[in-house]
Amino acid sequence: MKLLLSSISGIAVLLLAPAALAQLPAPKTVDLGGGLHVIHGQGGNIGVSAGPDGVFVIDDQYPNSAAANLAKIQEIAGAGPRYLVNTHWHGDHAGGNATFASAGAMIFAHENVRKRLSGEVPSIGLDGKPAAISPEVAWPVLTFTQGVDFHVNDETIRVKHVSASHTDGDAMVWFVEPNVLHMGDVFFNGIFPVIDLGSGGSVRGYLAVMKETYAQVNDATRIIPGHGEVATKADLARQIAMLEGAIAAVDARIKAGDTLEKTIAARPLKPWSAFAWSFISEDSFTRTLYNGLKK
Ligand SMILES: [Zn+2]
Repeated sequence: MKLLLSSISGIAVLLLAPAALAQLPAPKTVDLGGGLHVIHGQGGNIGVSAGPDGVFVIDDQYPNSAAANLAKIQEIAGAGPRYLVNTHWHGDHAGGNATFASAGAMIFAHENVRKRLSGEVPSIGLDGKPAAISPEVAWPVLTFTQGVDFHVNDETIRVKHVSASHTDGDAMVWFVEPNVLHMGDVFFNGIFPVIDLGSGGSVRGYLAVMKETYAQVNDATRIIPGHGEVATKADLARQIAMLEGAIAAVDARIKAGDTLEKTIAARPLKPWSAFAWSFISEDSFTRTLYNGLKK
């Protein structure tokens, strides 16, 4: 892929050769009104808030989709990203950090995101191999432990760390006045979630954070999940019901003394088989629940 780096008014702008751009699936955007957009692309859902104070962005997908996403942000917001929040460290959410930072974005995240991206805490990728250390330009420059509030574009944007769930460094982002919530990967809408036990994630913690969040949203809240279509409180309720049922079914096997192999063979998640997808099969989610609950 041919990338050209230029500098306009001191802001580095990445330009992608049109031929290379054509090879990538075009990102799809959803307009939530009031300058808020969602970009659905190859990885996690990107949130964009555009306004007079600058473009605020949540997550940046993969390195190889970063230039196309920057172009899309420029198209919908009329400017490049100024503030960037990573909901967690995974490569399908923070993989574009180096490209976005080089284009002028200042990166904010929970302190464990920086620790994992910088290698201060060695991490295992979702492929089971040691995760590569990211270049320093990709590391968050501002880290928080509990959260941070932004007061930009005439709104309050509340970034809040949640306890161990998908990983040990998850944050959710509330656009308070428009009542829009980006839940990061603590919500996979309509599909089995990834619960990354190797990054400090927790099965029971994941369910607990989903329930806490459910108690904080209302019927008018529009929820941007980490993966899947923009959702409502009712969609979140369906996901919680699945996870609660699935945990109970696998926990019953553990309490009966079944091994992992016997549990998988018994298909305790059969009632929720429709939640299986290309990345998380019924068997693999059974394995995650078993290993997480057995801890
Ligand atoms: Zn993730």
